[in-house]
Amino acid sequence: MTQHYDVISIGGGSGGLAVARRAAAYGARCAVIEQGPLGGTCVNVGCVPKKVMWYAAEVAHALRDAPDYGFNVPGSEFNWTYLREAREVYIRRLNGIYRTSLSDGNVDEIKGFAQFFDKKTIAVGDRTYTAEHVVIATGGHPVIPAVAGAELGITSDGFFKLNQRPGRVAIVGGGYIAVELAGLLHALGSEVTLILRGASFLSRFDAMLRETLMEEMLNQGINILSGVSPNSIERVDDGSLTLHCCEGQQITRMDCLIWAVGRAPNTASLSLENAGVKTDPRGFIPTDEYQNTNIPNIYAVGDVTGRTALTPVAIAAGRRLADRLFGNQPDSRLDYNNIPTVVFSHPPIGTIGLTEDEAHDIHGDGVKIYQTRFAPMYYALSAHKGHTAMKLVTVSPRETVIGCHIIGLGADEMLQGFAVAIKMGATKQDFDNTVAIHPTSGEELVTLK
Ligand SMILES: Cc1cc2nc3c(=O)[nH]c(=O)nc-3n(C[C@H](O)[C@H](O)[C@H](O)COP(=O)(O)OP(=O)(O)OC[C@H]3O[C@@H](n4cnc5c(N)ncnc54)[C@H](O)[C@@H]3O)c2cc1C
Repeated sequence: MTQHYDVISIGGGSGGLAVARRAAAYGARCAVIEQGPLGGTCVNVGCVPKKVMWYAAEVAHALRDAPDYGFNVPGSEFNWTYLREAREVYIRRLNGIYRTSLSDGNVDEIKGFAQFFDKKTIAVGDRTYTAEHVVIATGGHPVIPAVAGAELGITSDGFFKLNQRPGRVAIVGGGYIAVELAGLLHALGSEVTLILRGASFLSRFDAMLRETLMEEMLNQGINILSGVSPNSIERVDDGSLTLHCCEGQQITRMDCLIWAVGRAPNTASLSLENAGVKTDPRGFIPTDEYQNTNIPNIYAVGDVTGRTALTPVAIAAGRRLADRLFGNQPDSRLDYNNIPTVVFSHPPIGTIGLTEDEAHDIHGDGVKIYQTRFAPMYYALSAHKGHTAMKLVTVSPRETVIGCHIIGLGADEMLQGFAVAIKMGATKQDFDNTVAIHPTSGEELVTLK
């Protein structure tokens, strides 16, 4: 017999779980269909394991600087296998917490790969399920480029499976995942070459962030090759990898090559044609501002929509959709403007709103920029030096803050509170009226001249 639900989420990641749990809290009969471990990309091969590795890299930096603060730290060799196992145990614990939260929240978990049979019917193996509302939250996967020997490289998914630290590693790509992996691998002792197709990385970020991070990464000893495109990759006699670039360069003696060249949506095997759901040429599912697809009662949230691919965005869009469908909030929808985000580079980046260039394009002469660059106090005693840079983008007539960009120690934790203020429409005067917290780096943002 076909089981019937009010809502079925296809995908048990950030977005799918959020919709189902919120809808169930309103009393809706809900199910989540998931082919893999609960939690999706974020928990299993994304934010969570990445942040654990970033913390490990921060510990490595602290150990490097410890003697400058009077500590003698003998025997602090790094054990990659130990960290990997500890991380996996943590992730398995999270998988279990998600499972319990589904059963506690009266959401059925259906294991398996879902495909549309028709607009209201979903097939999982030889079983079928029907629902009044179907939410597609299938996320995405890393892209492997079509170059000869590409299969010799790994992706971010493969990075989390590495049993040992690669000695020499090349990372191809200029997005935040490439930059983050480069920073943490270098901190943990790998020799890292970052290969960029263009002149720089993080192309959609404010230029100040790009330039400062480039400088910091080069100072740390990360090799960065720009304007280079991979042509082929081969395994040579000594077992190492050689990357041949279109421009003639060869990068030799690599233990590992990581492709971080983008992500594609998980839509190809969903049999969307059986429901008539349209995709764009790259396979993403376009939605309107209420997460509606082109078919009534079928919605999409999260990475599969091709919009801001972040966990809190998928969760927020999912919860608002449930609020709209079952919570008597007909106008509930996610405002995709002013979404704060952090890059867990070394040092980290926190950014929200318009870049300086975007602001000038939109607001012209009404834009006024405030910025600063300094060495944070942490480095006063240390041999290793680093910098912090901050920028506020404001627009007349009230000097409303429409962009805030920070790179430096603590930027990752600094931004969230400022994001609230900016979302509320804070002006430069509001920033100035706020008493500084001393001695911190954050205080510089309320004392900019
Ligand atoms: C290396 C990396 C680091 C990241 N770091 C951050 C970060 O620091 N902060 C941040 O906010 N975001 C980060 N992200 C992005 C974040 O992980 C995603 O934006 C988020 O997971 C998207 O949630 P989602 O629900 O759209 O998709 P997902 O979390 O990908 O979930 C989709 C789920 O659907 C399942 N699925 C797919 N097809 C089917 C099917 N046909 N049937 C059944 N199940 C199916 C998949 O198995 C998956 O579990 C990172 C991503 C990566 C790859």
